[in-house]
Amino acid sequence: MTALHQPELVSQELIDLTRSLGRPERNLVILAEGNTSQRLTDGRVMVKASGSNMASATAEDFVAVEIAPLIELLENPESTQADLTAALDAGVVDDRRCRASIEALVHVAVQAVAPAAFVGHTHPTAVVGILASVHAEAAYQHWVYSDEAVVVGRPLFVPYASPGLELGRVVHQALERRWDEDGELPQLILLGNHGIVAIAPTAAGVDSVSAMAVKGAEVRAIAVAMGGVVPLPASAMAKFFARHDISERRDNLTQGKFSTAEAEDSLSSKSRSDHE
Ligand SMILES: [Zn+2]
Repeated sequence: MTALHQPELVSQELIDLTRSLGRPERNLVILAEGNTSQRLTDGRVMVKASGSNMASATAEDFVAVEIAPLIELLENPESTQADLTAALDAGVVDDRRCRASIEALVHVAVQAVAPAAFVGHTHPTAVVGILASVHAEAAYQHWVYSDEAVVVGRPLFVPYASPGLELGRVVHQALERRWDEDGELPQLILLGNHGIVAIAPTAAGVDSVSAMAVKGAEVRAIAVAMGGVVPLPASAMAKFFARHDISERRDNLTQGKFSTAEAEDSLSSKSRSDHE
């Protein structure tokens, strides 16, 4: 079987990250929206199950999926949505059908291009508003403030595709093109009319990238309301990234352990120290 229900393999870090992204006041997801994943040491990926809420996630709400068979399914033009549904099915658990999220292919597509420890996919209201607008792609062709550039890097825009096979295919192809250009995964994928995917070596990194994506969207919306965005000049940004202190900050932001309460403390003390 490609998908297995193995709650004993779900880490506390993955649960904490999922609950943190699901907190209602963050406006990243409502109801059963969104999903998270962690790469397992055996090369599979532990991804949120379909129909469960991020805010109340437990180890029971995840399914371990194999990457190779799902990529084969993606690459086969004859695959159907029914094939995908069958491949994500982990059987009946406690009288309930247990299946990996239909968006598991987004997580699998990331892992197929390069290993990533944590991935978080959400539908933040502030970002989806921009991604559902006529300015969706153009809005992200420039950075609008320096901390966004530090935390998010160069985001990857992917036009709308319906969730499931089609979305998995376009994300996989876009990530392969980015890998050919940059030799690294983006930290943020922007899905047209849909949401965001944050990719990082730690759970704290996924949390930070998601939070900064929301702030970046709010800044853009305010700048447009004030008459238009003044983008940061590309030449200044190249110099900025070359600075040792900036690359050190980027590393710091994606490292470190994550647990909900501690992360809130450390994130608030970090932002204080950043501005001292
Ligand atoms: Zn989604």
